[in-house]
Amino acid sequence: MNARVPIDQQTAPESGTWDAVVVGGGPAGATAARLLAQRGHRVLLLERGGRIKPCGGAIPPRLIRDFDIPDTQLVARARQARMIAPSTKRVDIPIDNGFVGMVDRHRFDPWLRERAAHSGAQLRAGNFVRLTRDADGLSVVHYRADAGTLHAVRTRAVIGADGARSGVALQAVPGAERGRFVFAYHEILRTPAPATPDHDPQRCDVYYQGDISPDFYGWVFPHGDTLSVGTGSADKGFSLRQAVTALRARAGMGAAEVLRREGAPIPMKPLPRWDNGRDVVLAGDAAGVVAPASGEGIYYAMLGGQLAAEAVLELLATGRPRALRQARRRFMAEHGRVFQVLGLMQWFWYGSEQRRERFVKICEDKDVQQLTFESYMNKTLSRRRPLAQLRIFLKDTAHLLGLARL
Ligand SMILES: Cc1cc2nc3c(=O)[nH]c(=O)nc-3n(C[C@H](O)[C@H](O)[C@H](O)COP(=O)(O)OP(=O)(O)OC[C@H]3O[C@@H](n4cnc5c(N)ncnc54)[C@H](O)[C@@H]3O)c2cc1C
Repeated sequence: MNARVPIDQQTAPESGTWDAVVVGGGPAGATAARLLAQRGHRVLLLERGGRIKPCGGAIPPRLIRDFDIPDTQLVARARQARMIAPSTKRVDIPIDNGFVGMVDRHRFDPWLRERAAHSGAQLRAGNFVRLTRDADGLSVVHYRADAGTLHAVRTRAVIGADGARSGVALQAVPGAERGRFVFAYHEILRTPAPATPDHDPQRCDVYYQGDISPDFYGWVFPHGDTLSVGTGSADKGFSLRQAVTALRARAGMGAAEVLRREGAPIPMKPLPRWDNGRDVVLAGDAAGVVAPASGEGIYYAMLGGQLAAEAVLELLATGRPRALRQARRRFMAEHGRVFQVLGLMQWFWYGSEQRRERFVKICEDKDVQQLTFESYMNKTLSRRRPLAQLRIFLKDTAHLLGLARL
């Protein structure tokens, strides 16, 4: 933590001490602030505002259930996924017994923050600047308000939920500078009316094609009146904009009106530490928590926010800083293995045109479809169908060795 701020740049903290200051009011921060406020703590939720989070907005039923998301937040329900291979071969996967929900982040995030405020968190517009320590050892959070004035608040705990390349993480948590990222870019289009033959408002299209992304995938997600068309890559020399232009044309959306163009980094790997061993803990993208291969981050951010808040609750109750470690431990115990498998999957299957072709082919398999969707929808690795898993393993191996025909 940077404790040596020049005196003339320091601000006297406002009187009183917060139990927790949550920096960043996205899905992670809003979830953390809500939980702490519900448990009766004095919580400040600091959000700089002014920007819509670039995001495809796809959320699984588990998130809708666990975090009580009302129907009114869903702008579309996808009941089918279409995978498209380099050869243009298509595999349609029905989403049985459920749907993937779609949220618009320009409505979803303010709603989450309002919900936290309704539970008692104090929501404040402010851009986090730095952390220092008071003479008695308590953390001081400095932030800039809209008018540009510097403010400072004292707090017993800080939750860094300020997204990828988190300022809180970089200042307070060792190892945060080692974060690696995929860059993602999407365009929000007005959904063509009347509908084009290529578009189904209840289907997510996923393109595994090297000119759309050499190491990730491209997507066309339905959002009711609008569409998210995007792609991502860790290759800094790859033009995401050109790829999205190509993708729009390929998806039959070349003439659709573009309403917004936005991009942002997506973390590739959970950070090695999420806390500073004292009073700061990270959550969501700030902690590097986005699923490899899929880029799914909203559910993991909300879960991370919940775990960070639970760790802070214990810190406040016991005064033991070790409580903060539990946030990462509990997350990795539940999802670490899935992240590893997905990381390997991305590295292997997204690595060449031939492998992408085989990957889409594998997805024709009903066992693969069922197990993949079950783990996406419910966030559990299915242990119920060992025979199906064995069959998938044997088929995967045949594909890996090139023994299966395309
Ligand atoms: C193009 C793209 C498409 C994606 N599509 C999907 C998808 O379809 N489904 C999915 O699950 N995930 C998707 N993701 C990932 C997902 O958007 C993130 O994982 C998720 O938003 C993380 O939530 P968070 O709360 O941790 O961080 P964020 O959502 O980034 O929220 C961080 C908040 O902190 C605020 N903040 C930042 N700095 C400061 C500061 N200095 N002071 C005060 N406030 C600050 C920001 O304004 C923001 O509100 C996508 C990401 C991208 C880039």
